[in-house]
Amino acid sequence: MDRYAVIGHPVKHSRSPRIHALFAAQTGQTLDYDRLESAPEAFTQTVLAFAASGARGCNITVPFKFEAWQMAAHRTARAELAQSANTLRFDAGGWWADNTDGIGLVRDITQNAGVTLAGQRVLLIGAGGAAAGSLGPLIDTQPAEIVVANRSVAKAEALVVRHQDWAAAQGVRLHATDLDHAGEAFDGVINATASSLGGAESPVRAGVLKPGALALDMMYGAAAAGFLAWAETHGAHGRDGLGMLVEQAAEAFTAWRGVRPDTGPVLAQLRTEL
Ligand code: NDP
Repeated sequence: MDRYAVIGHPVKHSRSPRIHALFAAQTGQTLDYDRLESAPEAFTQTVLAFAASGARGCNITVPFKFEAWQMAAHRTARAELAQSANTLRFDAGGWWADNTDGIGLVRDITQNAGVTLAGQRVLLIGAGGAAAGSLGPLIDTQPAEIVVANRSVAKAEALVVRHQDWAAAQGVRLHATDLDHAGEAFDGVINATASSLGGAESPVRAGVLKPGALALDMMYGAAAAGFLAWAETHGAHGRDGLGMLVEQAAEAFTAWRGVRPDTGPVLAQLRTEL
């Protein structure tokens, strides 16, 4: 049986095995998808051993996405921009890497939530791996402006510098700032920080929200509750990261299996299990 896994540290709470099992059942694919915990210093050996055992590919989660990107011989353009990968395919001619986080985010916003980003002003909060994976696909939707705000402003600046040419080519104004100067009245606010983990509401002021704005936290379940309540209190539409999670998984599944699953029923099923 074709084998896959999600590799991370920690990885035991990952919903990826459940999502891929649902995709496989839906599409009639036969595969096995497991969780692989790796010690922080042992990622390379863990992946090499998994591939050598005959596995076909893997997803990668915190904190190994940068190392995974480095291990691939072939990378998608969006993985290159992100300088990180969450999907590896162990192709015989050299491993192939993609970063599907950003396209998953964009699909959830534009298709599942039905929100148009083209011509809008978007605030991306965070400059870690999730923000890096999301910025290129967000630029592809051609908003009028994207502001990247981060606690460590140097990281936001580095991310912006790396994407500046691509943003200019798409006609998107792109700049970096700290959390206190994020700006006002955005149409879309995306929280790609880990701030919600501590139960915090939002790392930025409520003035960033235009009435009726989309306010999405990449977290889901109890961890996202504070941010979603903050968004609704200030007149925005809150959305958690579960749709993004399912959509990024669907993109990986498609790359591995050549079949695109229908994400709607899987997202609905996961909601009932949260
Ligand atoms: P990283 O560790 O790479 O980055 C963490 C980011 O959060 C940095 O920008 C960091 O700022 C910021 N941060 C951490 N704590 C705080 C705080 N208390 N206040 C303000 N900013 C803070 O993590 P990832 O980027 O990989 O993941 C970020 C979140 O996105 C995670 O919660 C993860 O679960 C979620 N995620 C969800 C996905 C989905 O499919 N739904 C996919 C990928 C990620 P600084 O640089 O200053 O340290």
